[in-house]
Order: sequence, then structure tokens, then C-alpha cells
Amino acid sequence: ASVEIGGPTIFDKIIAKEIPSKIIYEDEKVLAFHDINPQAPVHVLVIPKFRDGLTGLGKAEPRHGEILGHLLYAAKVVAEKEGIVDGFRVVINNGPGACQSVYHLHLHVLGGRQMKWPPG
Ligand code: 5GP
Repeated sequence: ASVEIGGPTIFDKIIAKEIPSKIIYEDEKVLAFHDINPQAPVHVLVIPKFRDGLTGLGKAEPRHGEILGHLLYAAKVVAEKEGIVDGFRVVINNGPGACQSVYHLHLHVLGGRQMKWPPG
């Protein structure tokens, strides 16, 4: 699929609740919701509500430190809420070489099955 890098994405509509999603956790800075195409029994996406240039982790700047830390903390909260805190994985796909398909930074939180390593 072709992707436009830098413009609005489907996640803006999820944040605005114009597209429904199954929300796990939400606060003023982040939103966590079930992935529409789950790759594990639990597969949640954690995203910043304000993208601020973060089309992907590769665009991170020093000013993003607080939101990046908060996203990781929210991933742990999601893992606890979903009952996978003793075995979960957090993934960020960055760029075409890593199969990133939505250019709004997101953490994948995966669990509920034995995770393999290396991931492939
Ligand atoms: P990426 O490949 O960019 O790392 O991950 C993007 C993820 O967004 C994919 O796992 C895909 O299934 C998910 N996704 C794409 N569109 C939607 C949507 O409309 N709703 C939800 N809940 N997930 C979506």
C-alpha cells in the first residue's frame, strides 16, 4: 500500500473518535487501543495524541523526551490492564525497511502467547 509521510493519518480519526476503536487506556497525552489486525492474543497500539512531528521514532528530537517516556509508561499500564505484564513485547516499526505503514508514531504492545526471538 502507498503511504503519504507527514500528512494526516487514520490515527487522527481514531484520536478524534471519528473512527471507533476499542480503547484500553487514555489520558491527556496518549491513547491506547486494540490493533485492528492483531498479531497476538493481545495487540494494543499506544500513540501520542499530538504527533508533533513524530511520524516515526526516527524523527525524535530532544523535545520529545517527555512524550516518549510517557508512551513507554503507558505501554506498561496497558500490559497490566491486559494481564500480560509478565510476558509482553513492545515494538516500534520505523520506516519502510521495518514495514511501518502508519506515519504517526505508535508502540505495539504484544502478548498473550509465547513471543519468539529473534522476531524476524
Ligand atoms: P505499523 O505497520 O505502521 O507498525 O502498524 C500500524 C498498525 O496499525 C497495524 O498493525 C494495523 O493493523 C493498525 N491499524 C491500521 N489501521 C487501523 C485502524 O483503523 N484501526 C486500528 N485499531 N488499527 C489500525
